[in-house]
Amino acid sequence: MSSSIPHLQLPAEPAVSCSNCAACCCQLEVLLISDTGVPPRFIDTDQWGGEVMLRLDDGWCAALDRDSMRCTIYAQRPLICREFAEASEECLQERSNLTTIYR
Ligand code: SF4
Ligand code: SF4
Repeated sequence: MSSSIPHLQLPAEPAVSCSNCAACCCQLEVLLISDTGVPPRFIDTDQWGGEVMLRLDDGWCAALDRDSMRCTIYAQRPLICREFAEASEECLQERSNLTTIYR
């Protein structure tokens, strides 16, 4: 005989965390504004001559591991990636843009 879990014991929404996210923010353009040691093979130049993270044809950053959806250069990731705060307004916006992933 199966017993059901009372509703009140379940969290309404899972907490916003990078560990339950499909790296939604890693589709944004990332300008390199300081040298953090990003390997040259991951660096591209934008139309104004600025250095940016290389993105693949589908929009994802070239440094993203597509199996784990984790950053392969975490220790050398750009400053902008370091400052993109988990659960910030921008983060929630990016997650909502990819909402179908969570359904
Ligand atoms: S910062 Fe936000 S959008 Fe980026 S990976 Fe973490 S939870 Fe996802
Ligand atoms: S460098 Fe890493 S954290 Fe930054 S966008 Fe690329 S994969 Fe994401």
